[in-house]
Amino acid sequence: MSDAIIKVESLSRSFGSLQAVQDVSFQVHQGAIFGLLGPNGSGKSTIIRMLLGILPPSSGNASVLDLDVQQDAELIKPRVGYMSQQFSLYGDLSVQENIDFYGRIYRLDPQRLSERRQAVLQLAGLQDRKSQLAATLSGGWKQRLALACSLIHEPDVLFLDEPTAGIDPVARRHLWDLLFALSGNGVTLFVTTHYMDEAERCTDVAYIYHSRLLVLGKPSQLKLLPEVTPENARRYELRVPSPANLLSRLRPVPEVLDATLYGETIHILIRNSRTLDSVLRDLGADADAADIREIPPSLEDVFVTLTARAQQQVKEGDELAQTISPMLPDVSEEPQSRQEQPDIAEANFDKTPADRPSAAIRDSGSRRLSTWSGLIAILIKEFVHIRRQPTTLFFMFVVPVIQTIIFGFAIDTQIENIPTVVFNMDGRQQSRELTDAFSNTRRFRLVDHVWSESEFQQALSSGRAKVGIRVPPDYVDKLLRSEQTHLQVLIDGSDAQVASTALSTAQLLGLNLSIELATAKGDALQLAPARNATGQGVLPVEVRTRLLYNPDLISSHFFVPGLVGIILQLVTLFLTSFAIVRERELGTLEQLFVTPVGRTGLLLGKLLPYALVGFVTLLTVLVVMIYVFGVQIRGSIALLLCLSMLFMVCSLGLGLLVSTIAKTQLEAVQFAFIIMLPSVLLSGFAFPRSEMPLPIYLVTFGIPATYFIEILRGVVLRGADLLALFPWVAGLFACGVFVLSLSVMRFQKRLSN
Ligand code: ADP
Ligand code: MG
Repeated sequence: MSDAIIKVESLSRSFGSLQAVQDVSFQVHQGAIFGLLGPNGSGKSTIIRMLLGILPPSSGNASVLDLDVQQDAELIKPRVGYMSQQFSLYGDLSVQENIDFYGRIYRLDPQRLSERRQAVLQLAGLQDRKSQLAATLSGGWKQRLALACSLIHEPDVLFLDEPTAGIDPVARRHLWDLLFALSGNGVTLFVTTHYMDEAERCTDVAYIYHSRLLVLGKPSQLKLLPEVTPENARRYELRVPSPANLLSRLRPVPEVLDATLYGETIHILIRNSRTLDSVLRDLGADADAADIREIPPSLEDVFVTLTARAQQQVKEGDELAQTISPMLPDVSEEPQSRQEQPDIAEANFDKTPADRPSAAIRDSGSRRLSTWSGLIAILIKEFVHIRRQPTTLFFMFVVPVIQTIIFGFAIDTQIENIPTVVFNMDGRQQSRELTDAFSNTRRFRLVDHVWSESEFQQALSSGRAKVGIRVPPDYVDKLLRSEQTHLQVLIDGSDAQVASTALSTAQLLGLNLSIELATAKGDALQLAPARNATGQGVLPVEVRTRLLYNPDLISSHFFVPGLVGIILQLVTLFLTSFAIVRERELGTLEQLFVTPVGRTGLLLGKLLPYALVGFVTLLTVLVVMIYVFGVQIRGSIALLLCLSMLFMVCSLGLGLLVSTIAKTQLEAVQFAFIIMLPSVLLSGFAFPRSEMPLPIYLVTFGIPATYFIEILRGVVLRGADLLALFPWVAGLFACGVFVLSLSVMRFQKRLSN
């Protein structure tokens, strides 16, 4: 008899208070087609995940190929194949690209890969569909492709989790034919299903119900279980004209232990104390017209009977296991089946296989390499994704350009052309010069001259004008009489920024005007407060200002460099978190975890392509900054690019962090937004940090974008060098180290969870 390939002993797993798998023990022998049956939610997938080493058991032991599933998971992975419950291949990759991807993950060299590709394509009958995109295959063909991928590395054991769920009967039969062919080649198959009829195709079956194993054995033995057909009862198939009608009348008969509809027939279990003929006669059915034949129980009968018993026991509060376990010795009454039953007590889980030296050698090498392995495969795949997905390209080139342009032009804080209405009640030359002085500042745009108080009020209250200038009728008279004259400027305060600009400009204008008049008069009276070299009267103090770096005070010059940082973060953060969460959502991440792909390989394979995308985005945005906004980079471009890479590490780390928190792409969007908000609002990009209240000001030091925006403005606008930027670079570096190590740690933990 062959050795047990899979040994499971008292395996349990709970999720919080939910017991998903409870004290399950069984063994699977080489070459078997082991069917694990059970209704949805009974714990089948959980058992498979534990056997594959991607979910640690809460208690108990399990070994596959004599390797412990917890300690030697990495050694098991290269030798087993897994076809997960949901279709978990890459829809935007072709049939061949999917197969090649898995081939590379399992490190097949090009020669071997091409041989194996041929073999699995042929086995699955996929030769003619090599270049078809996986997403466009129908259900049955998708499953064949999944099978082909899981066989690329010639696994010794193949785990199939509900491989036939949701595919049509013809495709189901085809898939089973493939499985038989594999079994014929010596591959051990572990198949879960909830289709009862598929159990008949297995060499061994286990039935799990509510997390517990109810029954285990070969189909032929299970049908002989005394619980299924008690000694004093027989099972018949009854073919009658209207079976459904008869069924409801049969069930209440005390001697009828079980009656179920099977298509046009009824399967009935009836005590020997009464003949079926007499029951039918009593019910008024035509016993002669009925076609009656004795039948053995089907596996469905077995499971239905045992489930009913188990439900009864649960209802009565009995312990399931205690009442069910005595069944097993009954099965093994047959001499040959005693051997087939698991002898769990003797199973030695720590024993290393003496008969597999080659495997041990092969695996010691793979352990060394493992953390990097798969990098190339994932890189290639990721670039195919990027190429196939117009959205990524759109994100890479179009979004940054549009965003820079929109933001750059929209966030223009210079306030000009404030609509202004003038009510000039004087109307003489000097009063007109006054209103001209207002419009000459370019801050105010005269939209209207009104001639009555009501029109004046109306212009302001309707919002047509934000500022109203009212010149009193005696304006010029008072000026000439050297009396103080009043000029009224009414300002709409609803937009604070517009209002304060209007206010300060108006005040300044008034001051200038007064000084001008005063100096002129003082000069004439020889009372000038100070005189210049030519003896002209001037003000005693002159403040000379000079604007550095941005002499024209163009606000876009200030905003656009910061925008480069924000857009760089936006693109890398979103794309990275999406790329990883998408795999988790599709189930391909789980599929990857059961391959020997290394953690570093997986991580770098996912991050590098998006780092490159981020770099392209960066260049694009810089080009827009220079050529659209005319912002020249005063400092070193090399320094800017280097520091941008440092910032990109932070963004990639944040993306990775999001991917460890979010379970779905929708959640990823939400988390990414939550991270983007402080980067936009608190980093000093939109509002000056120095104006923030102290607690918030302190928070800004925890945001990577804060440092990068300072760096960007420093290099681009002021031509700062590394030394001048040192504190910011150090801060950015610290952020990078923190974010990246936190996210890598969390990511690793998610993998091993
Ligand atoms: P089956 O494959 O037989 O349909 P599963 O093994 O998927 O059943 O699930 C068994 C039970 O464990 C279910 O109730 C399921 O909700 C629960 N379960 C499975 N995986 C998790 C998980 N990661 N977290 C919480 N509960 C889980
Ligand atoms: Mg399942």
